Amino acid sequence: MLSIKVLGGGMEVGRAAIEVLDRNEALILDYGVNFDQNDNPVLPLQETPSLIKGFVISHAHLDHVGALPLYQVSTDIPVYGTEMSRNIAELMLKDFLKLSGAKLPFEWVEVKKVIDNWKPKKLYETFEVGNFKVELSDAGHIPGSSYVKVYTSTKTIAYTGDTNLINTPLVKPADVDSLRDVNVLVMETTYGRFNHPSREQVERDFVNTAREVIETGGTVLVPAFSLARSQELLAVLAKYDFEYPVYYDGMVREIMEIMMRQRDYINDWSSLKKAYDEFNYVSSWEERSKAVRERGVIVSSAGMLKGGPAVWYFRKLSSNPKNAVFLVSYQAENTPGRRLLETGKFDEYSPVLKARLELFDFSSHAGRKDLKKIVKSASNLEKLILVHGSPDNLTAFGKEVKEEMGVDVIIPQSGQEIVL
Ligand SMILES: [Zn+2]
Ligand SMILES: [Zn+2]
Repeated sequence: MLSIKVLGGGMEVGRAAIEVLDRNEALILDYGVNFDQNDNPVLPLQETPSLIKGFVISHAHLDHVGALPLYQVSTDIPVYGTEMSRNIAELMLKDFLKLSGAKLPFEWVEVKKVIDNWKPKKLYETFEVGNFKVELSDAGHIPGSSYVKVYTSTKTIAYTGDTNLINTPLVKPADVDSLRDVNVLVMETTYGRFNHPSREQVERDFVNTAREVIETGGTVLVPAFSLARSQELLAVLAKYDFEYPVYYDGMVREIMEIMMRQRDYINDWSSLKKAYDEFNYVSSWEERSKAVRERGVIVSSAGMLKGGPAVWYFRKLSSNPKNAVFLVSYQAENTPGRRLLETGKFDEYSPVLKARLELFDFSSHAGRKDLKKIVKSASNLEKLILVHGSPDNLTAFGKEVKEEMGVDVIIPQSGQEIVL
């Protein structure tokens, strides 16, 4: 019997974990975490370790790899994914331990075992895991991200992980042609209800607005995720020959170094290299104080101002109307970033922000139109399983696709098993 069990990521964005079960062997695609309102990690559901032949990882974001160490406590289950994903996952998991270690059922030993048991795979290389044949193809989300295609005894299944169809300095559009022979598609639906503006336009607006703020005497703070978004913005500034000082702070540097070592994974290598060579990495408090006095751009984690050096910069810069804060990603509920957009305040005790506030849509997830394009490209599709989305995005998109394309759509809860 062939089935798909949703261990996490059903009706939620986060803790992605999809199990493929065939002839009493299990393959698990991603094993990530989510966080509850109090910032406690929430892990996916579990499967009997003896059934699991391996984990295949789509990309290194924590909501796709964060819970992997759980299966390295008393077992040595192999993990497969690109080399880039492995190298970034090592950093992400270390950082996760640093921030949430006391709340996790694993430690450094298990994190190290994830990396030691990781067998790097190239895109389009077919490999065997138990009875399964597996192939990775480009997902266009962040460097190293991949679709996972699984050949089972009866059906070909593909899982998108997170995916995007546009050109950015870091990644090329996803290879949707690789989904042609797929019968069952498990797809992310983060933006099932929205289309994004043209990326080229967003890039130009971002650079020009930064110039405008600086030319009228201000400093620009860009709180950004240290994985991929920060490097993308730095590469955008380099691509447009940004003439003012640029600083970056946080884990951005280490991830950039990993990307510099694996140029095959980077779309516009020369812009990223230029950013690496010319922009200033902040590594001390002295340099931080210098950066806030400078008329320039500061790119720093965390992306929703939930912590990291960005919070310190924010406190220094936010009371001057000449300065600006550029938010560059989705701002989740209960984060300072979201509160700023809704009330102009960092938290209920803070004064209203005086600096200029701008939001730029640098999303790395496909919007509604492109998600449909992905579904269309799977021309042998029998079932579409929608995950990694909020309930409203999932149901709206599911209904539309069913009506327009006549596809059999399933929107599972976490814990649900779908017999194929
Ligand atoms: Zn992701
Ligand atoms: Zn994700």
